[in-house]
Amino acid sequence: MHRMMKDPQGWQYALLTAFGYYLGAQIGVKATFIEQGIAILWPPNAVLLTALLLSPVRRWPLLCLAVIPAEIVADLPTFTLAQATLFALVNIFESSLAAGLLLYTVGRSFALDRLRNVALFGLFAMGIASGLAALLGAAVYTATTSGDIAYWAFWRIWWFGDGLGLLITFPILLTLFGAGHPWHAGNPGRVTELTALTTVTLLAGIWIFSQPQYLSAQDPMSPILLLPLTLWSAIRFGVRGAAFINLVIGTIGVYFTVHEVGPFTGIHPADATLRLQEYLAALAFSSLALAAVLREIARQNDQLRILDRTVSAIQEGVIITDARAPDNPIIYVNPSFETVSGYAPHEVIGRNPRFLQSQESPEEEREKLRLAIHAKQAVRVLLRNHRKDGSLYWNDLILSPIRDEHGQVSHFIGIQHDVTELISSRDALTEAHDQLNRINLELEHRIEERTEELLRANQRLEILAATDPLTGTYNRRHFFVRAAGEIERSERHGHPLSCISLDIDFFKRINDHHGHAMGDKVLQALTDAIQESIRPSDLFARFGGEEFILLLPDTTADGALRFAHRLREKLNAIRLPDGAGGQLSFTVSMGVAEYRRQVDDIDKLIQRADQGLYQAKEAGRDCIRQTAEAIASGTHA
Ligand code: GH3
Ligand code: MG
Ligand code: MG
Repeated sequence: MHRMMKDPQGWQYALLTAFGYYLGAQIGVKATFIEQGIAILWPPNAVLLTALLLSPVRRWPLLCLAVIPAEIVADLPTFTLAQATLFALVNIFESSLAAGLLLYTVGRSFALDRLRNVALFGLFAMGIASGLAALLGAAVYTATTSGDIAYWAFWRIWWFGDGLGLLITFPILLTLFGAGHPWHAGNPGRVTELTALTTVTLLAGIWIFSQPQYLSAQDPMSPILLLPLTLWSAIRFGVRGAAFINLVIGTIGVYFTVHEVGPFTGIHPADATLRLQEYLAALAFSSLALAAVLREIARQNDQLRILDRTVSAIQEGVIITDARAPDNPIIYVNPSFETVSGYAPHEVIGRNPRFLQSQESPEEEREKLRLAIHAKQAVRVLLRNHRKDGSLYWNDLILSPIRDEHGQVSHFIGIQHDVTELISSRDALTEAHDQLNRINLELEHRIEERTEELLRANQRLEILAATDPLTGTYNRRHFFVRAAGEIERSERHGHPLSCISLDIDFFKRINDHHGHAMGDKVLQALTDAIQESIRPSDLFARFGGEEFILLLPDTTADGALRFAHRLREKLNAIRLPDGAGGQLSFTVSMGVAEYRRQVDDIDKLIQRADQGLYQAKEAGRDCIRQTAEAIASGTHA
């Protein structure tokens, strides 16, 4: 009681259950007993089973407790208090065992909306729970009464009565109070149909069950004629409709049989009860099973419809092929496929999808696809496909195998994505990139060329800066740069080094008599002749006007003198046409000096050579003079 007070809702619920149980027991006792102790059907257990299944397990003890007084009140006129109490306990055992097994196997929110649940209800509630409870009930009965029914006969009476009671009553209660059994929309047509079905059932039921004995006479009015009505109810009004029509037929059947009228009378009451029970059970169970199966199919159809609409709504082309049929034919394409390819479903269904491919598909991609299909693996490939109008498009295809419940590949689904625009913009990008590369290469090449040109120009400039433009010999500036190196080498290695200073005699006259251009030709002829005579290591430079300097490494004053004499003779021998029919020759004067280590520098050396030249000029020209030591030391003026 303490518990009840703490759970007012549970308490109300328990009262309601007890009341329902009492009503069920009253109906069972008053309306279905054919003789002392034999009820055709026993409905109260269905009330308790429904209540248990619809409430949390923590309320189960309260619900079970509540039905004990209800059973006692209903049973007392027929049975003793002790018997009634024991029967109540047996019924509680039966209902809670059934509820427990269903909760364990199906889980919360049990509903008769699938065949498995109907079958489990039949097995656990009508079979195991009722059968076991009947063992206990029969024991109580045979132990406490002096009735004439044997144990196993009573066991069967109890079992069949409870089983049928559950089968007729539980579905109607569950569909009324439980979830999972939706009411059909309030369609006036359906209300009319339900009224017609009920009326026909009532009329046919009453007519058939009010006929004389069927089992003992040759009457054609078979109670099985009501089967189409229960099937009708199942097909058109689902589990609830079937439960309702079963209740109507059950009520009529029990009523007439109890009053000893109808097809199941005229034999021993116990046999009649058994036949009626079997008949009602077959009728009720078949229609409930059918309703559950239809409900399941409807649910699956709903799901299929949603899937179908989903696939239809996908913006990519979807192709499904049947991998089990020969040559893997297309069995489905969605509307987007039609939009992309231009093919209507009837034009492609039944064909292998390869006809959509063009020969322009990259060979390695086609090979990849072939291998994946052969190995029944998923793959993603880029193909070139034909549209119906012959135009081509790039198809980014994702192909996946679909497996059946045994894990075998039954179908393939291909999802096509038209990437033509993407590919062409990619190609344009690649082309632009290539062009950029080409331009870059060209630019690099040109820069190289320009750099080389610059280098060459630089070299030319260097040569220009180092040489005399008229004669091509080194100029004064460059001479000093190179001479410094020769001086240093001579200082370091102790090698002799000599210098010759050379000046053309009376050059002014040549200019005056033959013109400046002729003078230039003389200068060029002289340099050509000198260039031919010197060694590669000798340094030869024009110092100005018609004056030249020669620096001779590894050469003593004597060697330089000998060279100067050879040179004088060579130059004297030059003959140049004077332009007036005659020939022009010239002479030179030279001064020779040898470098003195630790004493001279380049300026002093040149100065000393110039001294020699001066002396040569003094001596009448066309001759050579070596500068004496005395001059360098400054003793000679
Ligand atoms: P000397 O025997 O004393 O050396 O008499 P010279 O006439 O050679 O004397 P000078 O050195 O005074 O004269 C040099 C002349 O050379 C003066 C100038 O007109 C001429 N000259 C200098 N540079 C050039 C040139 O590049 N081309 C030509 N044609 N003449 C030049
Ligand atoms: Mg001169
Ligand atoms: Mg001169």
